Amino acid sequence: RSVVTAASSSPAVVTAATDVPGTMKAWAYEEYGDASVLKLDEAVSVPAVGEDQVLVRVAAAALNPVDSKRRMGKFKATDSPLPTVPGYDMAGVVVKVGSQVKNLKEGDEVYGHISEKVLEGPKQFGSLAEYTAVEEKLVALKPKSIDFAQAAGLPLAIETAHEGLERAGFSAGKSILVLGGAGGVGTLVIQLAKQVYGASKVAATASTPKLELLKSLGADVAIDYTKENFEDMPEKYDVVFDAVGQGEKAVKVVKEGGSVVVLTGAVAPPGFRFVVTSDGSVLAKLNPYLESGKVKPVVDPKGPFPFSQVVEAFSYLETGRATGKVVISPV
Ligand code: NDP
Repeated sequence: RSVVTAASSSPAVVTAATDVPGTMKAWAYEEYGDASVLKLDEAVSVPAVGEDQVLVRVAAAALNPVDSKRRMGKFKATDSPLPTVPGYDMAGVVVKVGSQVKNLKEGDEVYGHISEKVLEGPKQFGSLAEYTAVEEKLVALKPKSIDFAQAAGLPLAIETAHEGLERAGFSAGKSILVLGGAGGVGTLVIQLAKQVYGASKVAATASTPKLELLKSLGADVAIDYTKENFEDMPEKYDVVFDAVGQGEKAVKVVKEGGSVVVLTGAVAPPGFRFVVTSDGSVLAKLNPYLESGKVKPVVDPKGPFPFSQVVEAFSYLETGRATGKVVISPV
């Protein structure tokens, strides 16, 4: 099986080393398919550390729908080669630093989304492993007030929420409708819009049992999509943030000159779609809001799932009914 060379084979770029083994446990797949292609491999080589990278002992990881889409082969043309150790999100402790690493050191508690580009050449050796190598610029120090499991659920989702709001030109005093308010991304769009950007009004959609959650996160209006069609309601918004795949309906409730951010599915004008870019400086910028508790991680109450139950965790995520983040902890 061809896996990366062990870190010990490139000592030149390593400035510090603790007791890092040559091999590790990692979830991996050798062919595309449903969650059953995932196997727990007990002897995957620990990734080598590039000069601008740190090696992290992963304490917790989180799942994203893009992990499932990638595993199904939807991004085959631009994916890294098989076999794949999946996983974008992680929180853990730095155990080695590359020679060009400037700010991080051994022992630092960090979190981040490890692949700068999600779809184009994502890392072959991801976060569902005991160790993962990641560029310093993609991670940030973990807020002290949250634990590893909570931190692991944040990076990809909060960076997506932030990038979408930025691209939409969201700012204080504007109104927003969040489609999919109870999911991994939606729970953070609601909170960032309200707590970080100063939205005048936040509305969000979910099914009946999740309406209280939307309110607790700061939504002024919680729309039950099992009872009402948001697109038939009279209210119009400065921004509509679609985390469901309802781009064609979303554009019906945006004000003239407003923005419609679409994460998945069809896009109708004036909607636009983007793919998140990982950026540790976004996490660093948002850390004060996490430290103070103004923005709260939402970990799905069915989890955290232990590392042995990654297949069960993916099966649950893939129901599309998760609340907040599906987290794997401890790793
Ligand atoms: P989740 O799996 O966390 O979303 C699950 C949530 O979606 C559930 O809480 C569910 O609530 C809600 N939901 C499902 N259907 C509806 C509906 N019709 N109306 C309102 N809510 C609904 O997904 P994420 O938040 O992590 O991601 C959302 C989508 O965005 C995915 O397709 C993902 O791939 C994509 N994405 C794209 C990115 C990009 O860069 N372009 C980045 C990140 C995500 P309920 O049970 O009440 O239905």
